[in-house]
Amino acid sequence: MVAWMVDRYGSDEQRARWLPDLCSAQTLGSYCLTEPGAGSDAAALGTRAERDGDHYVITGTKQFISGAGASEVYLVMARTGDTGSSGVSAFVVHRDDPGLSFGANETKMGWNAQPTRQVILDAVRVPADRRLGEEGDGFRIAMHGLNGGRLGIAACSLGGGRAALEASTAYLGDREAFGSPLINAQALRFRLAGMATELEAARSLLWRAAAALDAGDPEAQQLCAMAKRFATEAGYTVADEALQLHGGYGYLTEYGIEKIVRDLRVHRILEGTNEIMSLIIARGLTGAA
Ligand SMILES: Cc1cc2nc3c(=O)[nH]c(=O)nc-3n(C[C@H](O)[C@H](O)[C@H](O)COP(=O)(O)OP(=O)(O)OC[C@H]3O[C@@H](n4cnc5c(N)ncnc54)[C@H](O)[C@@H]3O)c2cc1C
Repeated sequence: MVAWMVDRYGSDEQRARWLPDLCSAQTLGSYCLTEPGAGSDAAALGTRAERDGDHYVITGTKQFISGAGASEVYLVMARTGDTGSSGVSAFVVHRDDPGLSFGANETKMGWNAQPTRQVILDAVRVPADRRLGEEGDGFRIAMHGLNGGRLGIAACSLGGGRAALEASTAYLGDREAFGSPLINAQALRFRLAGMATELEAARSLLWRAAAALDAGDPEAQQLCAMAKRFATEAGYTVADEALQLHGGYGYLTEYGIEKIVRDLRVHRILEGTNEIMSLIIARGLTGAA
């Protein structure tokens, strides 16, 4: 997401400076929009960037930032103007910039392969050429970045769901009860068929949304929201079904299914909650806010 935003909205100098290491993954990037008092209503963010000559001085706190502390590059949305989305600008902040610090690593239900921390900006002074786009473009840039981010989260849900389905199919083939492998029970075969169908539908919608985003289709934002909403619900439901099909063993850490359930749960919340996806989809239908 961060690399895409720099690539799409950065100057040639910014692209040359930040992209090689981000694209080779030598450097990780974190996307910093959410704040303690501004989650779904991200345009209410309060972090401020005050212009001071040829620098900006950024002060505020970002909440729930994935990769914080491990990443070197922080794409921070901060207010340079009045309230509302048109007063927001986007900045590239580096981990070594004086005044940047991080909160404690949050203890989470899942997603434990990466840290989630507050990003604390205490009068972080950055050169003016760290601003992406013009003043006031930041919210639009952040929302465009989220389209691709939502496809990524949808794809992660699909992958988790697929792994859970494959594990369930194998498990039911091995596990015997009532004198026969469980896979022979039609009720359970139908469950597997339902799980596979949900995932295939999610995959098709995800590919459709990805193609629309690549093509610059005016409906891309709605399609990305639909794909995120559908795939994250489908992936989580399939993983939960897989746990059930493993019986008591599904509840044990050893079998790996409970981890998939825990990891996929948050996909319905981040990159915009699924309720916010419904708002976006409905706005596309009705034009109303
Ligand atoms: C593990 C993790 C990693 C994250 N990583 C990042 C990151 O890297 N960068 C980043 O910027 N953010 C990140 N987030 C933040 C995430 O995007 C927000 O948590 C999310 O957008 C919801 O905001 P909130 O938690 O403040 O919930 P709130 O906005 O307080 O919402 C609470 C509930 O109300 C519902 N709701 C709110 N408004 C409406 C409405 N108008 N209509 C209907 N329902 C509504 C929501 O759907 C939700 O169910 C992360 C979160 C988590 C948990």
